[in-house]
Amino acid sequence: MNHWDYFKISARKAIERGNNDRRGTLVGCVGLSEGKIIQSKNISSMGTSPSAHAEVRTLKKRGNISVLYVSRIAKKDGNFSLAKPCKNCMTRIRAYRVKKVYYTISNSEYGVICL
Ligand SMILES: [Zn+2]
Repeated sequence: MNHWDYFKISARKAIERGNNDRRGTLVGCVGLSEGKIIQSKNISSMGTSPSAHAEVRTLKKRGNISVLYVSRIAKKDGNFSLAKPCKNCMTRIRAYRVKKVYYTISNSEYGVICL
């Protein structure tokens, strides 16, 4: 699997919310932990807590996550856009000792944060 395969898995997770979410773009996250793939979607439209962000939800599901993939996908055309984790999520990501975070920028570009 390459990076885009993981972005696609996290995007698929994100769009599960479908029409229950009024926002135009949805965020999903995949974490790799000892060979297992952990998935979460953003549910922040259901509340204002930063704990609702996909990254934090993924980290809470299982320990020892070494790599995170975060993708933001547009509902109308399926295009990827910037999914760089927010400041709150970065604080948690560091606390959980994640080593690398990959995030979508566009359909052809992604960014990586090495911690
Ligand atoms: Zn966040």
